[in-house]
Amino acid sequence: MKHLIHAKYIEITGIVQGVGFRPFVYRLAKKYGLKGEVLNTSFGVSVFVEGELDQIRLFSKKIQSEAPDHSLIDTIKIKNMNIQGFSDFSITRSQKTPGASSFISPDISICPECCHELLQKDDRRYSYPFINCTNCGPRFTIIEKTPYDRPNTSMKAFTMCKTCQAEYDNPSNRRFHAQPNACEKCGPDIFIYDKKSELIPSEKPIEMITELLKEGSIIAIKGLGGFHIATLAENSVSISLLRKRKKRPEKPFAIMAKNIESISHFASINPHEKQLLISKERPIVLLKKRTGFSWLENIAPNNKYIGVMLPYTPLHFLIMEQQKSALVMTSGNRSGHPIVTHNGDAFKYLSDIADFYLIHNREIYQKCDDSICKIIHRKTTVIRRSRGYTPTPVYLKQNAPHILGCGGELKNTFCLMKNKYAFMSQHIGDLKNLETFNFYKQSISHFQNVLNIHPEIVVHDMHPDYLSSRYAMDQIDVEITAVQHHHAHIVSCMAENGIDGPVIGLAFDGTGFGEDGKIWGGEVLLSDRHSFIREAHLSYIPMPGNNAAVKEPYRMAVSYLFKTFGKTFPHLPLPVFENILKDKTEPLIQIISKKINSPDTSSMGRLFDGVSSIIGLRNFSTYEGQAAMELETVADENVSSYYKFEYTAGEPRIISTQPIIRGIVEDIQNCRKISEISGKFHNTLVHIFLNICNDIRKEKQTNRVVLSGGVFQNSILLKGMVSALEKNNFKVFTHSKIPTGDGGLALGQAVIAASIK
Ligand code: ZN
Ligand code: ZN
Ligand code: FE
Repeated sequence: MKHLIHAKYIEITGIVQGVGFRPFVYRLAKKYGLKGEVLNTSFGVSVFVEGELDQIRLFSKKIQSEAPDHSLIDTIKIKNMNIQGFSDFSITRSQKTPGASSFISPDISICPECCHELLQKDDRRYSYPFINCTNCGPRFTIIEKTPYDRPNTSMKAFTMCKTCQAEYDNPSNRRFHAQPNACEKCGPDIFIYDKKSELIPSEKPIEMITELLKEGSIIAIKGLGGFHIATLAENSVSISLLRKRKKRPEKPFAIMAKNIESISHFASINPHEKQLLISKERPIVLLKKRTGFSWLENIAPNNKYIGVMLPYTPLHFLIMEQQKSALVMTSGNRSGHPIVTHNGDAFKYLSDIADFYLIHNREIYQKCDDSICKIIHRKTTVIRRSRGYTPTPVYLKQNAPHILGCGGELKNTFCLMKNKYAFMSQHIGDLKNLETFNFYKQSISHFQNVLNIHPEIVVHDMHPDYLSSRYAMDQIDVEITAVQHHHAHIVSCMAENGIDGPVIGLAFDGTGFGEDGKIWGGEVLLSDRHSFIREAHLSYIPMPGNNAAVKEPYRMAVSYLFKTFGKTFPHLPLPVFENILKDKTEPLIQIISKKINSPDTSSMGRLFDGVSSIIGLRNFSTYEGQAAMELETVADENVSSYYKFEYTAGEPRIISTQPIIRGIVEDIQNCRKISEISGKFHNTLVHIFLNICNDIRKEKQTNRVVLSGGVFQNSILLKGMVSALEKNNFKVFTHSKIPTGDGGLALGQAVIAASIK
């Protein structure tokens, strides 16, 4: 009776492949004296066990409680089986089940054990740039199809040597079934090429790269999800050369630093930021610069923050070991194009930028840019969700049919949804670039294949001219639906927080097509998952020259001043007129008055632009969001006063911008500092929207406020809004898993489509 044998089948789904799950199950089965087998399937991991019931119970409990660090169990199903009489426990061949799908692990940064071995002179992988184990290494970027086995990855080009194979086969080894396992003898290698794409033979390529960097060279380095362009961060000559070659006069560069200690010299790091920097995802983290470092001004001019990451591959680690200071590590692409992944493309497209190439011969199958995060108010704000996070799904509250959310047009990501999962793509970029648009299409079909999702519904932004909308409209045999941009923003935030409506949604961004055909962007929407009521918005203002007004904030300054003061405004002694020619204003007034190429907008982004220009900060932007970012940078956070404001009653309430502009102009005339004006401006917005939320709460009895849209990357506004709302007993929801900007839009689109179905 005591030794009665039972048989069970256990099926585990979630991120359970490529994270050491089978070896973990194997060791556990051995520990509890169980017989049977474990294998990867197209669903996840399947386990057959035979043994005493108590032991099986303990075993299945431990599967959940002691699962490997990087795994994420979604479901565990346990079924009784007939006894087959296994004689041992083993890991058996993967099975592909047609019609099924499993999750894919994101790429995982190098683990402490591998780092340690990398520096051990007597280790057989001493300074081998592709060291990895079941706890770390490439995953998403090298996978061609599922299940995650070596022949389905770009490691198929390399055959393991005897020693590597023995590790791979040994259950007690850290590299047991580590698919990218390799060593110097059998695995990928690195090579240096010059500007003419000619190989430079080198015994010690890392040392050579170190020398070249020291001399001020700009080097294209092949990484995990694509190429980086690297150069010494403190070398002002190389930085200005890089800016010239990349046609990127002012946009901040990300840097890579050796360790936390070296970062803390030039940037402040709080415990949340440290956690994020050393996390397995290793994103670029925007940290507050310390003062007194002139080189930081070259890297991120007029910016409070500097984007920093730690080495995340063994190759980065080896390079950084040799460095005394940080390296710029910016995406290896031509302006507006997607990141370069193939060696041939690097030689072709990066030859105008790089002096040398450090390449390797492991193919990158999926492009994947570095992720970018910022800690605001002790919480992660994801600015770009890509390498390290993709393709981990966002869990949904409700079951959804198969849906494709096509995303926006700029900073595009798409979303594939099924059951309770939303799989967000890596950062795709600006679809108006042809190559990027091709990358978009390829990536959609790759995700569909590996995740086995066949959309019944394709959902796109209401903007008819977005290339993502056109892509959606070209799909056949599916239901196609369009959703409003800001509604999608609010619902994306609701979805990641697992809440239903109704909520008061504050959607602040630069541009989004409105239901009335105008450009929205400073919106208060009472939303649930399938519809919304526009409760309030910034008053409409013409954007003279349409898109030109986005690049040239002085156009918005003219538009706001004209609206507030009429034709007399050019006589005001304002800094905006010191820097722009007065004769530029007259033609703008003409096109505004005649309504030529000057569409109406309620955009919050444009209000920031206009204010930035009026106070003399920025009239011409060289990258998206620059004027607004600089306005945030100068703001004095200790200012508590604010400008007068007014808005109309009724639905929608219309918020007049005139009192704000008038107040700002008075302050300029009274020689107030721009830091104070900017602080007051931020406070004013908080007060306006707090008031409006109070009004809506009274009328509609809803206490929950959701904040979304790109403008909430602004720390001062986000912090201010959350604090003010919470003080007034609102329950506030913000983003922490997906971007608050258009990179998160696709999730909202898909959830809205699911709710309509
Ligand atoms: Zn490792
Ligand atoms: Zn080997
Ligand atoms: Fe948006």
